[in-house]
Amino acid sequence: MSFCTKCHESKPLADFYARPRSKKGHYSECKICTLAMCRRWQKANPDKVKKFSDDYRARHPDKMRENNRKAREAADPKKLKATMRMWQINNAGKCAAWASKRKAIKLQATLSPDPRIDAIYEIAAWLRLLGDDVHVDHIAPLQPSDPNAPVGLHVYANLQILSAQDNRSKGNR
Ligand SMILES: [Zn+2]
Repeated sequence: MSFCTKCHESKPLADFYARPRSKKGHYSECKICTLAMCRRWQKANPDKVKKFSDDYRARHPDKMRENNRKAREAADPKKLKATMRMWQINNAGKCAAWASKRKAIKLQATLSPDPRIDAIYEIAAWLRLLGDDVHVDHIAPLQPSDPNAPVGLHVYANLQILSAQDNRSKGNR
């Protein structure tokens, strides 16, 4: 884990771009923040961006052909869809964990970065793959049926794996 100096979140090292010559061996901003900074810089410096890409094209004509081929493939919507579906199947746990985190943020629930949260979604995804119809459930719901009830926390202690049947009978979703 490392701390992002920009968004002030602790994230796994995989979320940081490598920077071999630095002390930590990676950037101090996470990938998302690094990309955001790059985009801001690119927006502010369109002339420099154009010069870079013109120079790059001139120096790497073979790479350009390769990139064009990749872009054509990506533009084939069937192929792209199939690739994405495959990725989602292979990363079902991650997808579910992200989806629930996005929902928790939207509902302004309390979040805590905790690898066990990802793990529980990963386990549920594996169980589904093995044929069990299970879901990760918030014990105290994020969307309580009583509007005055407090919003459940998106933390490990508030998560459990439920069968879809039990989940429906809870009726709080
Ligand atoms: Zn960040």
